[in-house]
Amino acid sequence: MERLRCTDIKFLKGVGPKRAELLNKQLGIKNCADLLRHYPSHYADRSKTYRIADFSGDMPSVQVKGMFVSFATHGEGARMRLVGLFSDGSKAMEVVWFNRIKSIRDSYLPGTEYILFGKPTEFNGRWSMVHPEIDRSDTPDISTGMRGIYPLTETLRNRGITSRTIYNMVYALLPRCRDIHDPLPQELRNRLQLMSLGDALRCIHTPANTDELQKARFRLKFEELFYLQLNILRYCRARSKTIAGFRFAKIGDYFNRFYKECLPFELTGAQKRVIREIRQDVGSGKQMNRLLQGDVGSGKTLVALLCMLMALDNGTQACLMAPTEILAAQHFETLSSLAAKIGVNIKLLTGSTTKKERDSIHDALRSGTLHILIGTHAVIEDSVQFKNLGFVVIDEQHRFGVAQRARLWKKNVIAPHILVMTATPIPRTLAMTVYGDLDVSVIDELPPGRKPVKTVLRYEDKRMEVYRAIGAQLKEGRQAYIVYPLISDNEKTDLKSLEEGYEHIRQMFPSYRVAYVHGRMKPAEKEAQMNLFASGQARILVATTVIEVGVNVPNASVMLIENAERFGLSQLHQLRGRVGRGADQSYCILMTKLKIAKETRKRLEVMTSTTDGFVVAEADLRMRGPGDIEGTMQSGIAVELHIASLATDGQIVQLARNCANSILDNDPTLASPDLYGIRKEMALLFDKSHDWSRIS
Ligand code: ADP
Ligand code: MG
Repeated sequence: MERLRCTDIKFLKGVGPKRAELLNKQLGIKNCADLLRHYPSHYADRSKTYRIADFSGDMPSVQVKGMFVSFATHGEGARMRLVGLFSDGSKAMEVVWFNRIKSIRDSYLPGTEYILFGKPTEFNGRWSMVHPEIDRSDTPDISTGMRGIYPLTETLRNRGITSRTIYNMVYALLPRCRDIHDPLPQELRNRLQLMSLGDALRCIHTPANTDELQKARFRLKFEELFYLQLNILRYCRARSKTIAGFRFAKIGDYFNRFYKECLPFELTGAQKRVIREIRQDVGSGKQMNRLLQGDVGSGKTLVALLCMLMALDNGTQACLMAPTEILAAQHFETLSSLAAKIGVNIKLLTGSTTKKERDSIHDALRSGTLHILIGTHAVIEDSVQFKNLGFVVIDEQHRFGVAQRARLWKKNVIAPHILVMTATPIPRTLAMTVYGDLDVSVIDELPPGRKPVKTVLRYEDKRMEVYRAIGAQLKEGRQAYIVYPLISDNEKTDLKSLEEGYEHIRQMFPSYRVAYVHGRMKPAEKEAQMNLFASGQARILVATTVIEVGVNVPNASVMLIENAERFGLSQLHQLRGRVGRGADQSYCILMTKLKIAKETRKRLEVMTSTTDGFVVAEADLRMRGPGDIEGTMQSGIAVELHIASLATDGQIVQLARNCANSILDNDPTLASPDLYGIRKEMALLFDKSHDWSRIS
């Protein structure tokens, strides 16, 4: 691989500096190793030759053998096309080109036998192929096995680079695969029955059959995930060995008094268990990095508060960071009122905190008179200095990049314990990678008395019925959310917008006050509107997804989501979590336009059939891929995945993690000679990244 890595593709036959630069810019291919790692997106089966007489409607690209009978041009100027009549003896078809007409006409001779490869289409009883691949039938190695079809960009196509061009470049390199040294130790390869790297690279481009392709894929996916897990686990181990944490030795007055005097309800079993897990961690003398997963409404806030009180009991300060101002403000309200009796000093710091207030918060933090700081990412600014920060809670963390967390982390000489809370249930395989370096606690139990939200799907034509149902809830004293995908009208779409909806809803429900909130409002305005709704003065809240996380109004019992087809499942689940927070039956109505695709309906039916966040998250991952979450990961300790998918390769993730763990158990620094190959690959893959070991 070393030599391939050192060979610039411009030295390959038929490439040259211009094409090399283009391939580098468009596909990131610089050297021959990159080229071999540019995997096909799908395959052409060249093992069979078809008869034109046997063509049928929905064939994929197929291969035919025959001769051109004649050529003719039709149309003029930009519309000009070249049509060749091609016959294989069974029947004739048309072959059509829309560009490079002259050169094509000159290159193919009637009377010579050619092999064409393309997708047949039928028009008026006549078959045709547009821009097929063409080879002379005496070209060696032309019609055997399967061969790769490569992802390209529009620019490359316009510059005359086709999938075939790439294939030819790769094909020329394949003989050199034989000499590739496999970085994975023989023992591991034997145990997992992995194809060698050289074979896998050859087979991924030109598999003899699907079985071989399967094996090649497995090897390459495993390798990719293995290095990734090895990297995550390596840092994780290094961190727990070298970094000291606070030892919270005791449970003191703050915690005990709160528990005895202020706890508004009995903790659920799951809340108690999680607090025990955290207590054990923070008492160990190691720095805690823990992910707390709990579905919406499972009571994470209370757990966070109890943990922060533990920190205060041990002479340190605590900080809670939320992704939005609304949410930070809400946490501030909740926590201040919960802890009012025990004399804890809590303050809120956001982007809209006044200079004067901010200065006084800064002073109080430095002197230690301020115990708990709640805020948005304003709290990670360098001007915010703590006297002794011992515990950090990050709510809905996937909205914070790893780098942002790092800044928070550095606020103390001794690293504070970190508790990351998320209501997005993250499927195991994803958690293993994205949060692979965190310990995980799960609150898998809702507070007693909650009724699952009833979710229904309604088409646009049932709008009036839906309004009547909402009206009935309002009449009973309940409140309603109405969620829109857009803030204002956009001529290009037929999506419902909040601005339009706000007027409409006011007309439909004239006897109720309607509040509204969206992302483009000033924080103070937002807060005023939210307060109208939270206090019950406004009975309807018209909103965009800004209410997705955390907003807590237990009296709200119905949510209508407009253009539900436009939202992802996890997002819908988050939104739905805003209702069902009181003891009464709640409802979520997903409204869509009349015509939606079958897949869309299937997707939305996941929502109507379950309220289990993990089931929703698994379905979302399967249907849409890891999306945002993977994005967060890539900015951190990981690399981009080329062939493996966190959505579908869960088992390989697990396998890779197990193997990485056992290798590190035996040889934590990867020092042994048979791990030399792995060490080198790791350096190549990860040396660009920063030292992420000091990050939660
Ligand atoms: P989330 O996990 O979504 O952040 P919250 O912490 O906001 O959930 O809690 C949701 C609601 O449940 C809040 O109104 C909270 O007061 C209530 N709650 C939390 N724990 C319990 C409990 N053990 N028993 C009853 N209600 C609880
Ligand atoms: Mg919450």
